[in-house]
Amino acid sequence: MTTADEAHVVPLNDLIEHDTEGDCVCVPEARPVTRDDGSIAWLMVHHSLDGRETSEQLQ
Ligand SMILES: [Zn+2]
Repeated sequence: MTTADEAHVVPLNDLIEHDTEGDCVCVPEARPVTRDDGSIAWLMVHHSLDGRETSEQLQ
């Protein structure tokens, strides 16, 4: 589903390598962003797999 209208935001120094060309194991969140010309692009926000988010949910 990768298109030219996608941009990826990947956590730095994460435990895994994020796949920005196919389906990433972290299940990135797709956020629509409106560009200057009014068209929609997708910002693919990858999630860190170092456990921070999991521990936050448990508290
Ligand atoms: Zn990812």
